[in-house]
Amino acid sequence: MLVFLWEVVHEKIMVNVQRFRRGWINLDLCMSCGTQSESVLHVLRDCNFIKGCWLNLLPASEVQTFFGFVDIREWLSWCLKSSFCIGELPWPVVFMVTVVIRVAWIPAAMGWITINSSVRQNSGAATCASSFRDSYGKWLLGFRCVLRVCGVVEAKLWAIYHALNVAWIAVQLLQGQDSGVYRLQSLIINCRALIRFRVVKIYREANMVADYLASSAHGGVFGMSLIDLPSSSIKLLLDADCMNVFHDRIIN
Ligand SMILES: [Zn+2]
Repeated sequence: MLVFLWEVVHEKIMVNVQRFRRGWINLDLCMSCGTQSESVLHVLRDCNFIKGCWLNLLPASEVQTFFGFVDIREWLSWCLKSSFCIGELPWPVVFMVTVVIRVAWIPAAMGWITINSSVRQNSGAATCASSFRDSYGKWLLGFRCVLRVCGVVEAKLWAIYHALNVAWIAVQLLQGQDSGVYRLQSLIINCRALIRFRVVKIYREANMVADYLASSAHGGVFGMSLIDLPSSSIKLLLDADCMNVFHDRIIN
């Protein structure tokens, strides 16, 4: 919770306003209501999808103050220092266990490829996996890899290494490909122009496909296996992402 509050105060929570400022997306609208900018304050307090929850919890006498803050630091400070109670519970306690982040898989901007990676560790045995998807969420490629016994940090580094390695091999294939077909040449030129990387941390709940792949790798043989076609289980998760299904991430 403290980490989360630090991220909120320092505007480290990745929302569409941040993505828009960095030029990653064309619109900063909220992914839930689609009517207002998706700022951190909007996601945590003002969006219609969370506002009803707060209105149900807050005493009528505190509603105006709660929704009146413009500065997120002042709002957080008030929420954490208020002395009124909900039943027998102090408001700061109710507030902290009620903060819910709604997260969903977000496709990359048009022309980009999203590489989602995940690691899993179980009794020392570690696995990693990645999925490669286009701007529509369509499956391009995936892999899962059984690693030797290692810590989470090393597993994450292996995940990044393997993901970039597979991406680089794909890039080399594109650059070396001599199709002789005009329309394919045009496509390859476009792909070359788009060979750039951006790294973003996302929550596990918004990374269901890669997380499933990493989990399903446990018990397998050591090494990497490429996945050309998604299984029926992966297809269900891909469909859920494409339908913009949200998952609640409760911070407590
Ligand atoms: Zn909203």
